[in-house]
Amino acid sequence: MLTYETFCGGIFETNCYVISAPEGWILFDAPDGACEWLESRHVDLKLLLLTHGHIDHVQDVAKIKKRFGCRIGCHPVTAPMISDREFFRNFGFDLEIEPAEPDFLIEETPVRNFLGLELQVLEVPGHCPGSLCFFSRQDKLLIGGDVLFADGVGRWDLPHGDGELLFRGIKTKLFPLGDDVTVLPGHGPPTTIGAERRTNPFVR
Ligand SMILES: [Zn+2]
Ligand SMILES: [Zn+2]
Repeated sequence: MLTYETFCGGIFETNCYVISAPEGWILFDAPDGACEWLESRHVDLKLLLLTHGHIDHVQDVAKIKKRFGCRIGCHPVTAPMISDREFFRNFGFDLEIEPAEPDFLIEETPVRNFLGLELQVLEVPGHCPGSLCFFSRQDKLLIGGDVLFADGVGRWDLPHGDGELLFRGIKTKLFPLGDDVTVLPGHGPPTTIGAERRTNPFVR
């Protein structure tokens, strides 16, 4: 069974998860404070994967890259969100990030090997273009980003958001993964596909 640890950081209380893969540590998302947290846990990070490019999930990317020299993987549309200092300013937000370049790009695929860990990659847009969910079939574990939450879904009123697209993606891509799958979301506590399929008011 995969073990993971959770850190929640930044003003939006954004979760990130670190997982021990056969060939090293993988961090999913990089909220404010994640770099110090990894240091305090003595995690020698090898790889950073991003679920999507919203600022609260990428705030520490450049810092982490500098500190650990890890590789960074993200979706092609997430790339400018981390490499263009002005990206969020262009949307009218008074925000800047320290830019960083991804080392490789990730798109939807039935199986891809990350440091010896086989993950299915699902693309579920609607909250944010290029939103990725990472699924370990063997461990029945989904690192879902801001797609599906306990009793909620990602907001769809941000630039390029689309509620119908989001709901459809959850129903057609995530629900079939199985009721016994644990979901590790970008905000809030873990949940399961089964619990959300039964009671989540947005996707019934
Ligand atoms: Zn988001
Ligand atoms: Zn978020």
